[in-house]
Amino acid sequence: MSDVDNEILESIERWAERELKPIAKKFDHADEYPLEIVEQMKELGLFGATIDPEYGGLGLSASTYARIVMSIASIWMAPVGIFNSHLIMAACVQRHGTDEQKRRWLPKFASGEIRGGIGLTEPNAGTDLQSIRTVARRDGDHYVINGTKTWITNGVYGTCFGVLVKTDPEAQPRHKGMSMFICEKGDGFKAAKKIRKLGYKSIDSAELVFEDYRVSTEQLIGGVEGRGFQQAVGGLELGRINVAARGAGIAAGALRDALRYAQERSTFGKPIAQHQAIQLKLADMATRVEAARLLIEQAARKYDTGERCDLESSMAKLFASEAGVENSLEAMRIFGGYSYSTDFDVERYYRDAPLMCIGEGTNEMQRIIIAKQLVERNPL
Ligand SMILES: Cc1cc2nc3c(=O)[nH]c(=O)nc-3n(C[C@H](O)[C@H](O)[C@H](O)COP(=O)(O)OP(=O)(O)OC[C@H]3O[C@@H](n4cnc5c(N)ncnc54)[C@H](O)[C@@H]3O)c2cc1C
Repeated sequence: MSDVDNEILESIERWAERELKPIAKKFDHADEYPLEIVEQMKELGLFGATIDPEYGGLGLSASTYARIVMSIASIWMAPVGIFNSHLIMAACVQRHGTDEQKRRWLPKFASGEIRGGIGLTEPNAGTDLQSIRTVARRDGDHYVINGTKTWITNGVYGTCFGVLVKTDPEAQPRHKGMSMFICEKGDGFKAAKKIRKLGYKSIDSAELVFEDYRVSTEQLIGGVEGRGFQQAVGGLELGRINVAARGAGIAAGALRDALRYAQERSTFGKPIAQHQAIQLKLADMATRVEAARLLIEQAARKYDTGERCDLESSMAKLFASEAGVENSLEAMRIFGGYSYSTDFDVERYYRDAPLMCIGEGTNEMQRIIIAKQLVERNPL
């Protein structure tokens, strides 16, 4: 990491400690959107973290970005989703958009003036994205979109989304009939309902509905139909590194809190950290955090140098997200009865962690990708 990157990371770590830590419990339990935090994240440049400086972003590498995500998630994971989903939309425009689209949208995405996310999932299709039913039909210099997206992060407070649709529902193979549009809320496009969740509170996950929504042909990403599926899945390697960093962040937060508590809490005349059963847990937790960190670093380094990293990013995502789940559960055990109290943060880690096993491709799919890659890279 460069000196500048280090400075950015350290200032974000100080900010998370100072601004996020004191309010996380209150906002999480009230499921309240942290508007003030969003303003601070704009100031920090987080909405442009991975956008090119040419368009007003910070242009951070995947390695630095992953470290930032991990450090914020170790305190409170949900706010990461507010800029991360937004950056996936921005990355789609940056990688696949026309020059005109980049000039028009990226500066406003980088400043946070326009915020949003990515709309792929539908009520009937998540993993099997080629089964989506949202359709865009050409009408002169516009397309008319009809359909429903669900589980869309930033769905209520965001105003602009990268939306995957079918421009040719009959196409075979199916992905050739898929396209991505930049869609701003307006007539015919609105958030229909906020979804109530187990964890990942304070951030709005919503159903988005399109009813005869008219979008200009200028907002077809890349300007050519039929590339939407590749554009949507093309960002997944970086997406997986990000989700891995969130999982590793939760795992590190759970370890940090458990380590402290184990030294404060005494039973049978000594701190529980001196009971071997607790020591075994702490050792496993710390080992998971380090292993997750190294897998993420390896995948991010390859991504930054332009090397192929589908195997590495899937391994990082799989391991780090499971580490988040395991460490948050172990922290619950170490905290004993107090883990069940909403006065402590560990119950939040425990509710937030499982999402990392689902997002950016479920862990079942990660295993399948890893196995296919192993065979492909090691032919007989
Ligand atoms: C809080 C939250 C936020 C989200 N944010 C967004 C967002 O911003 N944008 C967005 O587009 N989506 C978002 N999603 C949706 C998420 O990406 C999907 O939930 C995920 O892709 C899984 O899809 P699904 O829920 O339809 O599960 P399904 O695809 O129905 O899968 C169900 C189960 O079957 C397994 N499975 C499916 N196919 C196979 C197979 N071929 N082989 C083996 N096992 C298989 C899966 O691993 C899983 O265990 C979000 C979800 C949540 C919960």
